[in-house]
Amino acid sequence: MNDSELMQACTLAPYWWDDAPRPRLPQAVLPPTVDVAVVGAGYTGLHAALQTARGGRSTLVFDAEDAGWGCSSRNGGQISTSIKPGFDQLARRHGKQRAFDILREGQRSLAWIGEFIRCEQIDCDFGQVGRFHAAHNAAQYTALAARLAAQPKGLEVDAFLVPRAQQRQELGSDLYWGGVVYQQHCSVHPARYHQGLLERVLAAGAQVAARCAVQGVTRDGSSFLLSTAQGQVRARDVVIATNGYTGSLTPWLQRRVIPIGSYMIATEPLPDGLMDRLFPTNRIVSDTRKVVYYYRPSPDRRRIIFGGRVSHQETDPRVSGPKLHAALVRLFPELHNTPISHSWCGFVAYTFDELMHLGKHEGLFYAMGYCGAGVGTSSYFGMRLGQQVLGLSEGKTALDGLPFQTRPLYSGNPWFLAPSVAYYRMRDSLPV
Ligand SMILES: Cc1cc2nc3c(=O)[nH]c(=O)nc-3n(C[C@H](O)[C@H](O)[C@H](O)COP(=O)(O)OP(=O)(O)OC[C@H]3O[C@@H](n4cnc5c(N)ncnc54)[C@H](O)[C@@H]3O)c2cc1C
Repeated sequence: MNDSELMQACTLAPYWWDDAPRPRLPQAVLPPTVDVAVVGAGYTGLHAALQTARGGRSTLVFDAEDAGWGCSSRNGGQISTSIKPGFDQLARRHGKQRAFDILREGQRSLAWIGEFIRCEQIDCDFGQVGRFHAAHNAAQYTALAARLAAQPKGLEVDAFLVPRAQQRQELGSDLYWGGVVYQQHCSVHPARYHQGLLERVLAAGAQVAARCAVQGVTRDGSSFLLSTAQGQVRARDVVIATNGYTGSLTPWLQRRVIPIGSYMIATEPLPDGLMDRLFPTNRIVSDTRKVVYYYRPSPDRRRIIFGGRVSHQETDPRVSGPKLHAALVRLFPELHNTPISHSWCGFVAYTFDELMHLGKHEGLFYAMGYCGAGVGTSSYFGMRLGQQVLGLSEGKTALDGLPFQTRPLYSGNPWFLAPSVAYYRMRDSLPV
């Protein structure tokens, strides 16, 4: 099948929006004053808003687009502990105790999101399916095995090794060199999760002003003035929850996050029986490449949702679709003639130390920088940030007060991205 045949009936929007269309909230009448204004209506902003609204503070959430238009309805719906650096790396930087506490916080976020969805009874195909994390070469398999054998005390996770000879029990591909199953990792329908969260935020009394970009935030005495095309709002506290879409509204934050495009496709429904051969255990999957591929069955197990990065520069979903398909076919040659039904992308936020950051700068609360793995952590840290706005001691986290680094001359345009991706791709292609 050539590229145009592959893409013939392809929608350039997230697959998830078929099931959970973008909420067309009525245009909000902006109140002159609120206790809390939140900029960004993704998981971070909505979880912060849920806390402040339930805590009795009048809360107004802005989004430049429809609520959830950003990563929070575009992601792969894979949930892990999501702290990228390992214990040794963190210990070198921050000492052993802080390293331990940061990694525990990641584990807490994974446990907490499951508990939240259960308690709130959000219908979003959440399940503890486990992750198969595949080694892309023999050296990576050895490294995975060594890491599993030397888990720091008190941070052990439920996981088991899958040697290459048994790989087909997990995944219908011979491309990898075995891997590890992390049993606690989960999957979710990301847009239905966002929709359920939005409904609870509205039910808690918060207002959501969609399609209403905040164009300026200035301090005025003990409060802030937020300006939009629809008027000004005064807020005692402001939460910035813009992650990969952080712009010139907050230049200090813009200099600290690196927006990177992440690309996904959904396939047309697979022939009967094929999904059971390719994903016999229904796990989410990722691999050890630095330029990672991540994929899973759709909740109804009819399609594969496949994501990754396809080019050094940012590109168009019309271009990324066939490239992702080619990567999918390298894994599963039997999908050669399976067309793509959806192709889309979104912007995640990386940071220079590969950790998320939350706190307060010049009076503005912020949480962002989940480095591409934020379904659980943006929910959890958004919730903690909301508690911090309320002044609650349980809002404290192990990441509070970590220096949020930038680099000289970096202003938010990642000119170094293309050479970095090229370098990592070259490294991923080496046998060790
Ligand atoms: C394709 C893709 C796949 C992913 N897969 C996974 C995955 O499988 N697992 C995982 O853990 N993570 C994944 N992620 C990352 C995860 O989705 C994000 O980390 C998380 O959703 C971040 O949530 P957020 O609320 O902080 O930001 P977002 O959901 O991006 O929300 C930010 C919002 O801010 C708004 N905004 C920006 N500026 C303004 C302004 N001036 N005024 C008003 N509003 C503004 C934007 O319109 C946007 O809606 C993926 C991301 C992408 C793009």
